[in-house]
Amino acid sequence: MEARVSGRAYGSHAATSGLGLFQDAHPKCQRCNNRRSKEAHHELHKGHPARYDWPFMRALCTPCHIEVHQQMRVLVTITLAK
Ligand SMILES: [Zn+2]
Ligand SMILES: [Zn+2]
Repeated sequence: MEARVSGRAYGSHAATSGLGLFQDAHPKCQRCNNRRSKEAHHELHKGHPARYDWPFMRALCTPCHIEVHQQMRVLVTITLAK
């Protein structure tokens, strides 16, 4: 595990800089550990104050991101069927 600090200067895109740094820190997909991470998955729902905290985010490649959301859908179905 590396804990490198990016020496890159901040641009003017303050709103998206957090996501850029997150994917810089996790260049590989955290699910398959095989492909490049392309997207950030948020484990917390929209509007949650900790949604942008790194422990609640996953850097994923596109196929894994799709799979994670498909699994979430199944979980929701099971919960409702109970
Ligand atoms: Zn993946
Ligand atoms: Zn997602």
